[in-house]
Amino acid sequence: MGTKGIQIVDMDVKKLVAILNKAFCDEWLAYYQYWIGAKVVKGPMKEAVIAELTQHAADELRHADMISIRIIQLGGTPITKPEDWYKHSNCGYDAPDNPFVKDVLEQNIKGEQCAIETYRKLVKLTEGKDPVTYNIVLQILQDEVEHEEDLQAEMEDLDVMLKIGGR
Ligand code: MG
Ligand code: FE
Ligand code: FE
Repeated sequence: MGTKGIQIVDMDVKKLVAILNKAFCDEWLAYYQYWIGAKVVKGPMKEAVIAELTQHAADELRHADMISIRIIQLGGTPITKPEDWYKHSNCGYDAPDNPFVKDVLEQNIKGEQCAIETYRKLVKLTEGKDPVTYNIVLQILQDEVEHEEDLQAEMEDLDVMLKIGGR
């Protein structure tokens, strides 16, 4: 824990750590939702969707890493028990029990929209108060916006294909 690095944070550091820990839980759950989704997904355009889900899983894990490093810099401890992820998460977890591509895409689009809202709030909260956290949550927000767009583009292609196929 760097003392000067923490002094320059112009907000309640404990409260900030608690909020970052909630986002940390979201990232792990999002990671797993993408990871398992990429394994079980079925239907047309499966290959393209698997590639996207796999890439997003890696991004979510990287986000968890970025947030955990910041929590530790702030003198906090990232949540250590997976059983607490559900308890603290903002966006929860949607099991891909219906593995049809369209359902999996819909679940993940919903998750990204929740993530965008979560990071929008975090960007607003830290703006002008904690430039280091601000920079991290802004980078993550940019990724989540890209994720939503990627998934919606897949969904558009899928809808065209299903229409042609007469479904
Ligand atoms: Mg992508
Ligand atoms: Fe993320
Ligand atoms: Fe995402």
